[in-house]
This record gives sequence, C-alpha cells and structure tokens, in this order.
Amino acid sequence: MKCAHDGCDHQADCAPKICVPAVNGPLDESKTIGIILGLTVCRQHFDELKIADFLTAQIKGAIEIVARGKAPPDFERAFFKRVLLISAEWATFERARAGRPASS
Ligand SMILES: [Zn+2]
Repeated sequence: MKCAHDGCDHQADCAPKICVPAVNGPLDESKTIGIILGLTVCRQHFDELKIADFLTAQIKGAIEIVARGKAPPDFERAFFKRVLLISAEWATFERARAGRPASS
C-alpha cells in the first residue's frame, strides 16, 4: 500500500488514530476515545499530519456520541497515535471496515 500523501512513493506503514481525552482526564491512550482514520501514510508523512486538519465536525460529532453520558471530550488536547499496519489493532479496523466480524 502506498502512502496517501500526494506525490509520495514510499510504502505506507501506519495510520493515524485520533485520541481524545476527557476534560481533565489523563492523556493515557487507553483512557481516551480513539478513532482510527482510514488513511495510510509513511513515517515521514505521519509526522507531518496536523490533528487540527482532521478534527472535522463529523469526527467531533462521532466522538461526542461515544462520550455521551461520560466526561465531555477535550478536543484541545487531542493527539495522534501511530497505528502500525502490521498491528492487531489495524487488522481489527480493516475487518470492521470490510463489514466482517472481528472474530473471523
Ligand atoms: Zn509519504
């Protein structure tokens, strides 16, 4: 899979995951609400991504739905986690995206 960045010929090796902590909550990834973006990039272009460009109204709305009934999300402190394409986390995401159950 090639990097999604225009004009880049490198192989993609990771995908960004937006992690949003709760207001006053810890920045520990496991305590955040995370959304993996279906965007695969190389290491260099991962480092150049700006999270503000990805916190669209649609993404924020999806995170607010997950956070409903819990502490409100703090988008100001949102950060990217690098999900490697060889990781189990990415494999699970790919299966979900293809509409197949995670157990298969
Ligand atoms: Zn690239």
